[in-house]
Amino acid sequence: MPEFNPKLLNDPLDAADELIDGLVDAYNGECLKVGVRSLAKKDIPDGKVALLVGGGAGHEPIYHAMVGKNMADGAACGDIFAAPAPNIVQEATQAVDRGNGVLYLYGNYAGDVLNFNLGAEMSATDGTDIRTVLIADDVCSAPPERKKDRRGIAGLVPIVKIAGAASQSAKTLDDLARVAEKACLQTSSVGVAMAPGSIPSTGKPTFSLEEGKIGLGMGIHGEAGVGEIEMTTADELTLKVMDLIYQDYINDDEVDALKEGDSVVVLINSLGSTTMMECLVCMRKVREFLEQKGIRIFDVIIGPYVTCQEMAGISFSLTRVDQELQELWSMPCESFCISKMQGPLHTGAVASHDSNDHVQASTQNAKTEKKQTVELSRSDTGLSVPQARDMILKVADAVIEAEPVLSQADRDLGDGDHGLGMARGFTAVKEALDGVDFDTHRDLFASAGNAMLTTMGGASGVVFGSLFLAGGTTMQGADCFGSHELAHLLNRALEDVMERGGAKPGDKTMIDALHPAALTAAENLASPLPESLQATAQSARNGMEASKDMIATMGRAKTLGEKSLGLPDAGAISVTIILETMRDFVHVTRD
Ligand code: ADP
Ligand code: MG
Repeated sequence: MPEFNPKLLNDPLDAADELIDGLVDAYNGECLKVGVRSLAKKDIPDGKVALLVGGGAGHEPIYHAMVGKNMADGAACGDIFAAPAPNIVQEATQAVDRGNGVLYLYGNYAGDVLNFNLGAEMSATDGTDIRTVLIADDVCSAPPERKKDRRGIAGLVPIVKIAGAASQSAKTLDDLARVAEKACLQTSSVGVAMAPGSIPSTGKPTFSLEEGKIGLGMGIHGEAGVGEIEMTTADELTLKVMDLIYQDYINDDEVDALKEGDSVVVLINSLGSTTMMECLVCMRKVREFLEQKGIRIFDVIIGPYVTCQEMAGISFSLTRVDQELQELWSMPCESFCISKMQGPLHTGAVASHDSNDHVQASTQNAKTEKKQTVELSRSDTGLSVPQARDMILKVADAVIEAEPVLSQADRDLGDGDHGLGMARGFTAVKEALDGVDFDTHRDLFASAGNAMLTTMGGASGVVFGSLFLAGGTTMQGADCFGSHELAHLLNRALEDVMERGGAKPGDKTMIDALHPAALTAAENLASPLPESLQATAQSARNGMEASKDMIATMGRAKTLGEKSLGLPDAGAISVTIILETMRDFVHVTRD
């Protein structure tokens, strides 16, 4: 017997592309596929403030199936469990932009933030005004005082529904951002898992859980929660989870405690294989819990909205709805993910949204300024352009071969897709470089970086794409790839990744290998390239080893806290493999 349900697929690596084609068919002409893997509504009126959602595939029906009438105007869709690459975000932005700005509304994950921000920068040069509101409803992923670290889970469904309704009459991007922020602030969720789902392309589970245990507060990729509890009854579990949500409204200074007379929308979400029967059984207890506290249930939605393949698990979300949100919730909507008739208010009307009573929208207006390359020191000897190309091809082979190791490392601390993303990116690098003659080192590195950035998605698409793309800008005017070019490449890449991702040395990311490597390369400018790479690769390896003793504070592993001790960061292993393969290549070339 296979460990998991067999999946009915073609090549699992094509699943994200093929499901989008199927989804377009299901929309029967109302939505169109745009660019690589985005979906956009056909009839978006001129001058409408547009709503763009998006994220990785594999969680169907979100996000791409939330495009529709009085819902999102478009969605940027990544590969399975991987954020959409920036070019996908840009294509989706162009498709929905009607001249009055685009609101990005998506879940708070490092990969999504990095890729959407870069997509926003690219779109700003197209002249589009962009704002971002991050969904971070998972109360178990960080305490209230670190709310910006929380990840987005099933609460996104009521949030996007409300924002979709608001976008119909919003006059400005500010208006829409304000309502989306308000819906986010009033939404809290807790998820639990009983058994993992499996990643289509590896067949491996997304996490492991002892039999008879429930993972409390686990994320929708199987990221760690607040702990494990013994298997229990539906009623007991529901009370425990509802209490966590209720307490969070009390503990959170930014939002009022839930009190008698408040109205809430309840969402009970199946994460995949948990049945409707189980969800309905839990619902009775939710009603009992809320009624005891005098809280009114304004509306209920139950179903598999945010899934993780065949994961067994359930999440509970509450959205407190005041008069404005009640009216927005009551607006009928139609999408593949969620369709509603006239809501409980039966008003059909939508309130005008004036911009007083401001909840500050998190604006991330695109940064467009580019770094100027200053006059850099140069090596006298080093690799020619064809030799550097062959070195990158060797790196590609080594990374692709290491896929199982990288996937395992990310399974231990993250969501298990790092190896797949890296392999996908470096396969694209091979296609872009193999047999191609480049005029300059600059062109060569730019081509490799672009191949990675446009195919990988995930946090590492931007992070490792930057290694070649940002790092590669330092190659402007270089005659050869020597110790100076290596040092400039690594230091610029380090600067760029730290600026984009906000991680510092010690946060247990790839920076913990890249940072010492960049320092060592800078100290070895006078050495020939083989010696410099020897020392640099060793520093990367030492940094990767040292990451075992660090507690993760960035990326998906951050919720693990002390449990992340003892294992290295997956991205740090990738940096080490890249530099060690470069070292081996130049040693062979010299011998
Ligand atoms: P995702 O986290 O989207 O699943 P991957 O699994 O492909 O992406 O990559 C995870 C790796 O990305 C981590 O091991 C870490 O090294 C790196 N990473 C994540 N977030 C950051 C960040 N903010 N800055 C630098 N590196 C990061
Ligand atoms: Mg990952």
